Amino acid sequence: MKRIYLSPPHLSGLEARFLLEALESGWIAPLGPQVEAFEREFADVVGAKYALAVSSGTAAIHLALIHIGVRPGDEVVVSTLTFAASAFPVLYLGARPVFIDSEPTSWNMDPGLLEEFLRRRAQVGRLPRAVVLVHLYGQSADIDPIRALCQEYGVSLIEDAAEALGSTYKGKSPGTFGLAGIFSFNGNKIITTSGGGMLVSDQEEVIAHARKLATQAREPVPWYEHREVGYNYRMSNLLAALGRAQLRTLEERVEKRRRIFQRYVEELADFPGISFQLEAPWGRHTRWLTVMTIEPELFGATVEEVRRALEVENIEARPVWKPLHLQPVFRDCEKIGGAVAESLFAKGLCLPSGSSLTESDQVRIIEIVKSLCKSI
Ligand SMILES: *Cc1c(COP(=O)(O)O)cnc(C)c1O
Repeated sequence: MKRIYLSPPHLSGLEARFLLEALESGWIAPLGPQVEAFEREFADVVGAKYALAVSSGTAAIHLALIHIGVRPGDEVVVSTLTFAASAFPVLYLGARPVFIDSEPTSWNMDPGLLEEFLRRRAQVGRLPRAVVLVHLYGQSADIDPIRALCQEYGVSLIEDAAEALGSTYKGKSPGTFGLAGIFSFNGNKIITTSGGGMLVSDQEEVIAHARKLATQAREPVPWYEHREVGYNYRMSNLLAALGRAQLRTLEERVEKRRRIFQRYVEELADFPGISFQLEAPWGRHTRWLTVMTIEPELFGATVEEVRRALEVENIEARPVWKPLHLQPVFRDCEKIGGAVAESLFAKGLCLPSGSSLTESDQVRIIEIVKSLCKSI
């Protein structure tokens, strides 16, 4: 039986043409006309003024934090329910993440907890340097109150929209509300360049500085002159061609993933103990991943039992992100709350949601889940 993956790369058919065009132009190099075109087109799609194509979403977060001036000993607030890459760049800079719990509506950062934390820290004169706000599984966080708090306390807001391309918050794309936003084109994301990322901002100097840092921090003089530490973080021209082809199919991808979600709900939501991540009232959820929660006493099987039953049939399902405040690598970091994220980790299962998933494969997945219900 062919393996069904959680979210495999999905080719649109346009890739070969774009790649060939890039190859024939002779630009087999980092940078080049495809990179510039991808940056422009991507900025248009998300509604940002400026964009910088880089080698990964993680690199984009790193560059944003360097630009802000995060230094050893600083603190950076990060959502706890996320992939570790949201917080690793904080450690690259010798700074410390402070993890904030989710609110139950969107599963993203709880603005009330952030407010409490910032108020407490303002009183002792120890405000964090930045907030990294994650938009999880294709759903925007409640950005307005978080942005207002960041403004009030003078803390920079970076949005990790790696999983949220195509979603909206009050009609606009997440990633465009803070000082900078990041996106990922890793193989499992809604569009892919096989590996890559984008940094966006409405402030020209953010992108100009990040662009310089990402190309080994060369100064604009004829000889090689460096006044800052540089990185080799730029996207290659060939991969940008892939990205341009993929970007053209974004709307279809979102529609397809939302239909997949709808079918899971129609077939499974009436089973006792089964629920799904809600769509928050403030915008469109892309359903990059469909996430189901299971109350084992009601349903009759645990998340791990369901996951294993699918694995036996060569179907990949994954628990919800393990909260970062529970990760050994972050054990010395402060956490604010944590019970909501811990409960989502205990009960949540991500189901195969790729835009190339066929109806018959999805029916097979649904039948396996149904067969595990012991209460009816
Ligand atoms: C995928 C992901 C990243 C990292 O992106 P890469 O391109 O793989 O470096 C960061 N944050 C979140 C929430 C992600 O899902």
